[in-house]
Formats: sequence, structure tokens, C-alpha cells
Amino acid sequence: MAEDCLFCKIVNRQIPSEFLYEDENFVVIKDINPHAPVHLLILPKHHIRSINDMEKQDSELVGNMFLVAKQMAKEQGVNESGYKVGFNVEKGGGQVIFHLHLHLLGGWEK
Ligand code: AMP
Ligand code: ZN
Repeated sequence: MAEDCLFCKIVNRQIPSEFLYEDENFVVIKDINPHAPVHLLILPKHHIRSINDMEKQDSELVGNMFLVAKQMAKEQGVNESGYKVGFNVEKGGGQVIFHLHLHLLGGWEK
């Protein structure tokens, strides 16, 4: 847990937030300022600042984020219409919360 990290506080339930999914490694929340009809964030419970800080040992964790995204896309009914998944990396890449998270965006058309 990193000090003063909003997403650490969310995954540790220090700030109330609705979890659409939770397992031992991840939680999924709705983005508070959605950029698409479906805009979810897949958060690892373990604090990693950004993809820049990803180490070899994090490969399985990061790989599993995509499996959670795939499952959430199906649950949200956007798997067939299609969706985007992506990481913003550091300020120039649009990252504003420095706790790794995978964006899942979709639902523009059925
Ligand atoms: P990024 O720009 O990749 O760091 O994305 C951070 C995202 O977190 C933005 O899309 C914000 O809208 C979203 N966000 C910020 N605070 C919250 C919150 N309390 N709950 C859910 N999403 C949030
Ligand atoms: Zn954190």
C-alpha cells in the first residue's frame, strides 16, 4: 500500500466504492468520469506505479488484468460489439492516478 494513493485506498476499502468484480488480486470499478457508455478500471490490489515500474515478476499479474477485462467485457455485453483496453503511462501518456490500472471502454453501439 502506497501512502496517499487513491486506488490503494479504494482497493483496501478505506474509501467506499462499488466493486463490480473482486478476487484476491484485483478489483474492478466504474470510472467516475466515463469516456464511453461502459468505462471500467481494472485495478491490481498490489501497488505498482505504472507500466514503467513493471518488473518481470509482474508479468502474470499484468497478463491476468487482460483476462479480467475480457470477462468484464462479456459481463457488460460489449465483447461482441468490441471494446478498447489500455494503460496510460505517466503524465505525458495521460496518467493522472499513479497506481496501475487498465481502462476498458466500450458500448458505443450494440
Ligand atoms: P488515468 O488518466 O489513466 O490515470 O485514469 C484515471 C482514471 O480514474 C480517470 O479516468 C478518472 O476519471 C478515474 N477516477 C478518478 N477518481 C476516481 C474514483 N474515485 N473512482 C473511480 N474512478 C476514478
Ligand atoms: Zn496504490
